[in-house]
Amino acid sequence: MLTVEDALASILNHVVSGPATLTPLAQSLHRVLAEDLTTPHDSPPFDKSMMDGFAVVSGDFTAVGAQTLQVLETITAGTVPTTSLRTRDASRIMTGAPIPSGADCVVPIEQVSFDESVPKCVTIDHDVVSAEQNILRRGVIAEMGQPLTNAGTLLEPQHIAVLAEFGLAQVPTVRRPTVAVLATGDELLAVDQPLTPGRIRNSNEPMLVSQTQRANATAVPLGVARDSREDLHRHISRGLTHDFLLLSGGVSAGTLDLVPSELAAAGVQQVFHGVDMKPGKPLWFGQLQTPEHSCWVFGLPGNPVSSMVCFELFVRTAVRKFTGCSMPLPQPTPAALTKSITVKGSRPVYFPCNLHLSDEGLQATPVAWGGSADLRSTADANGMCLLMPQSDAYEAGDKVAAIHWSTM
Ligand code: AMP
Ligand code: MG
Repeated sequence: MLTVEDALASILNHVVSGPATLTPLAQSLHRVLAEDLTTPHDSPPFDKSMMDGFAVVSGDFTAVGAQTLQVLETITAGTVPTTSLRTRDASRIMTGAPIPSGADCVVPIEQVSFDESVPKCVTIDHDVVSAEQNILRRGVIAEMGQPLTNAGTLLEPQHIAVLAEFGLAQVPTVRRPTVAVLATGDELLAVDQPLTPGRIRNSNEPMLVSQTQRANATAVPLGVARDSREDLHRHISRGLTHDFLLLSGGVSAGTLDLVPSELAAAGVQQVFHGVDMKPGKPLWFGQLQTPEHSCWVFGLPGNPVSSMVCFELFVRTAVRKFTGCSMPLPQPTPAALTKSITVKGSRPVYFPCNLHLSDEGLQATPVAWGGSADLRSTADANGMCLLMPQSDAYEAGDKVAAIHWSTM
């Protein structure tokens, strides 16, 4: 059976990046940049004032004491100076306005003697003047042609803002993958149906749809396929037209676990079946490849927590690879356990836990979890930590690898 690391490596080997498209900037939040971008112009694009005050010539203030200067004009943000400064000239200037030529200092309004009723002169003391003060020179923040943002960056609001500053109204990003979600099982009832003997509600579909949305992909729920070859075949055919198809249930050893054989009948090549982990051991992964289209297929175990954990570890990795994300693998962070815990069995366990920051750093509190069917307790968790089989119990304070479920 594959280790988790080998299964992740195999997924990265098979999934390829989707095509890049130009996306309007306003719709590019949480998309992944498809190309390295450079600055198309200097920032700032002109020498600008960082204060409301007076632009002056610092050379006028070599002598100790105050100087009274002639005020030439007022320059507001969005306008341009109409005249240069010569000796003993000043121009009133606002934050963001271009510096007039000849000036090399802006003195804040609070540091001058100025009477609005006598707008033609201003008196300034030498000790509030020094060359370059309150001026942001053209290109100081970035010169034209410098690296701006690299391919593989997940676009957050700060990136959107920077792209806007440089006039990039259309951004090259990888399109979001479409992820079809197909629950399988004769026992499944819709969320709004009352329970009847032997039946349970289909919680995996809404769970996987919302996990897909959280992973910045487009979810396409396909409803429920019953445990018959005909119904599975019909639903699988629809699902394979998408970039990814997630099935839940039907991948274990039951008499009606028909998913692997129906996927094979539909032309999907198995890549692996079974991963050495808990929960999630029955995970199935394969690929449909035709000259026109690829679809990567995950047969997720039906038990809800197994499906949830396999999505967070494997499906998210596949989606990140598709979108060209620079770090597609899960990024665990070390966390300290807040209580002792013993791992039963011989498989590594991804244990639902509550991750929280304390003065001592990240801490992980395992929830009272009863195994792969215990969905209820995951409502108390916001992540999972990896517990390796070992003879001794984990003690409070032991460091474990933790994965936050909300991390992109
Ligand atoms: P299976 O892998 O199909 O044998 O399912 C394993 C367990 O998961 C069974 O107890 C199923 O009833 C349960 N299960 C399967 N699919 C779902 C689903 N969509 N929602 C909730 N539980 C499910
Ligand atoms: Mg089933």
